[in-house]
Amino acid sequence: MKRVAVVGASLAGVRAAQELRAQGYDGGVVLIGDEPHLPYDRPPLSKAFLAGTASAASLELLDAGDLASLALDFRLGVRATALEPAARRVLLSDGGSVHADGVIIATGGRARTLPGFEDAYPLRTIDDALALRAALVPGVRVVIVGAGFIGAEVASTCRSLGLDVVVLEALPAPLAPVLGPELAAVCARLHAEHGTDLRCGVRVEGMSAAGVHLADGSLVPADVVVTGVGMTPATEWLAGSGLKVGNGVCVDAGLVTELPSVVAVGDVARYGGRRHEHWTNASEQAPVAVANLLAGRTSRTYTPSGYVWSDQYSGTLQLAGHPRPGDALTFVDGDPSSSSFVAVWERDGSTVGVFALNNAKLFNRLRRPLRLPAAV
Ligand SMILES: Cc1cc2nc3c(=O)[nH]c(=O)nc-3n(C[C@H](O)[C@H](O)[C@H](O)COP(=O)(O)OP(=O)(O)OC[C@H]3O[C@@H](n4cnc5c(N)ncnc54)[C@H](O)[C@@H]3O)c2cc1C
Repeated sequence: MKRVAVVGASLAGVRAAQELRAQGYDGGVVLIGDEPHLPYDRPPLSKAFLAGTASAASLELLDAGDLASLALDFRLGVRATALEPAARRVLLSDGGSVHADGVIIATGGRARTLPGFEDAYPLRTIDDALALRAALVPGVRVVIVGAGFIGAEVASTCRSLGLDVVVLEALPAPLAPVLGPELAAVCARLHAEHGTDLRCGVRVEGMSAAGVHLADGSLVPADVVVTGVGMTPATEWLAGSGLKVGNGVCVDAGLVTELPSVVAVGDVARYGGRRHEHWTNASEQAPVAVANLLAGRTSRTYTPSGYVWSDQYSGTLQLAGHPRPGDALTFVDGDPSSSSFVAVWERDGSTVGVFALNNAKLFNRLRRPLRLPAAV
């Protein structure tokens, strides 16, 4: 293999480029990214960077030493517009193209938008975070649509800046499908304890200069409206490539597409019927995907840990495993009303998930044996 094109210059793409070198690949590596910036880390965008306590430089995923040793051919500020597997070519938005024997798809996703909320602030990129940060001046009333991880973190940061915050959530409780009702109630409690006005079971219709309009005809006054309603996988450039795409790039248990010379990693990769939109997943897939790309076949499989963390107010929430509705939840340390506890989910006598609030030590001990069989 003379050249590998990595499409998407963020966490998963960078880890894949690093892994190519770690596995001894000494051919060309072209890293194509449509953002104009060198690769950076996203989790601080809703936390310290949004609060203004972390610099842009502290977010960079590659330092000067990495840049020198990896010898990457960066194409930044340029979008991949098509993949032509037969010609072994990636077409670019600047009219150019990259010939590559292997392709690593790492295009992640974009903030999902809601009709009627075109003037709201999304949060996916550093430019989104800079725009939002500039709007968070003293005295503004913030309304956040969506009480998922990112919505909750933005609410927490806004409260730390002393701003009035309302969070509007369609579900009966925040993160209920992921965490179940008992732990969703804990998330709701964190909001309440820190002065965020969380309103669940609410349907939004749109926004105007006055605020957010609800389906019941009422208005929630707002100066700044943020949407935190998930992401859409960036796969449009793969239309016509022949690859199977549907809510992500469909890959096998080794992260390989139908073409052995094309693999996918990170938020965009769909394996075992689902995508995982979390940092650890995007970071941990590279060794398997790269090994299989270089082998030209699926020789290794990926086992997701399901690890997610989220910093909200005074709490660090940690989740691992893949609990499902119906799994039995037991508190093994503390209780849901305390500021620190650990709970496990069990199914058929086995622990299938762990959740902790402010107890990383016990969480880490309990999550270790949790690795599940590879997705197929
Ligand atoms: C604000 C925020 C906070 C987060 N906090 C946490 C957290 O606390 N804990 C946690 O576990 N996870 C967190 N995450 C999730 C985590 O950051 C993502 O899972 C991770 O960034 C996924 O990495 P990725 O490389 O797969 O995709 P992305 O980070 O989405 O990167 C994909 C890159 O590809 C580019 N791209 C897309 N299409 C093209 C194209 N056609 N051509 C060229 N380039 C293209 C995109 O612009 C982007 O730069 C957070 C995410 C956000 C947005």
